Amino acid sequence: MHTYEQALQAGKQFLLEHDDYLVVSHVQPDGDAVSSTVTVGWLLSCLGKTFTMINEGEIPQRMRFLWQADAIVNMTEQPPMRKYKAIICVDCADFARVGLTRQYFEDDAMILNIDHHPTNNGYGAVNIIKSDAAATAEILFDFLQLFDITWNKDIATSIYTGLLTDTGGFRYANTSPNVMAVASRLLEHGVNGPYLAQTLLEEVTLPQVRILNKALSSLQMTEDGRVAWVVITPDDMQACGAVNEDLEGIVNFTRNIRGVEVGIFFKVINDNAVKASMRSAGKIDVAALAQTFGGGGHVLAAGCRLEGKLEEVVEKVLKQVNSQW
Ligand code: 5GP
Ligand code: MN
Repeated sequence: MHTYEQALQAGKQFLLEHDDYLVVSHVQPDGDAVSSTVTVGWLLSCLGKTFTMINEGEIPQRMRFLWQADAIVNMTEQPPMRKYKAIICVDCADFARVGLTRQYFEDDAMILNIDHHPTNNGYGAVNIIKSDAAATAEILFDFLQLFDITWNKDIATSIYTGLLTDTGGFRYANTSPNVMAVASRLLEHGVNGPYLAQTLLEEVTLPQVRILNKALSSLQMTEDGRVAWVVITPDDMQACGAVNEDLEGIVNFTRNIRGVEVGIFFKVINDNAVKASMRSAGKIDVAALAQTFGGGGHVLAAGCRLEGKLEEVVEKVLKQVNSQW
């Protein structure tokens, strides 16, 4: 078993030995995914390496101010590209999380896997996995220490973004002393904390308020009050003019109801597929729950995709939750 320090060193070797990298994060990228993508890009540019950053879909509007975030290729808008041999995956709990971007990996591609999900199965040739890190960005802060680089506000802002968003604004249980120490160092590099909190966490769009309203009016609870869930359909999305990033945070309302142990947000994808986002108040390991359906994540925040009609999926998931008490 490699130690974390050995894994970081192996990652450094990977960066020094190869060139022409494809940097990729998970589908429907969150703040940590985007921040980790551009952080690795920034490091590669410091090392004089060539690279392409890519995601299966669109980068959320509120994160586009990050260094080179606009350069992240959105696969759905870009003509097909050539394949790459050296891949760096960030914040991807399993290989499937890279989504359609995998079509740009050579069959014999080498993967550097940098992640903080406890359910990560080590799919890379080199794996830097620290499951008690609050964010992949926290791991990247350690990683950057191994290189002779000059820190600036851009890179500090990027790493701070991953920490801020994955800790829910430095509130969740993953807000360790180290997270606060790293945040402090980043503020010393000129990060504008209040601006980032406002832009990334506080500000809402009108479609976001409308879709939240729809979601909350669909609220249902089990009789014992321990499980609460909401549902959003493609029709709701259209009626509200909402896009995926507008759904961020909705699931928290279900879990935050006093007495609720598990909160679930069901997003209908089509007639035969539903995405479930799960949050736990502490008693139930939702990562394990999501894993039983082929998903994953963290003990208190996880997700999965289920095949089937909404009613079937809800029943299946509630049954599984009820078997966990
Ligand atoms: P969210 O519910 O906000 O989409 O995701 C919560 C957590 O679960 C995140 O850490 C995310 O990476 C993880 N997660 C969400 N959906 C999936 C999934 O389908 N598969 C895996 N492995 N992890 C997921
Ligand atoms: Mn993350």
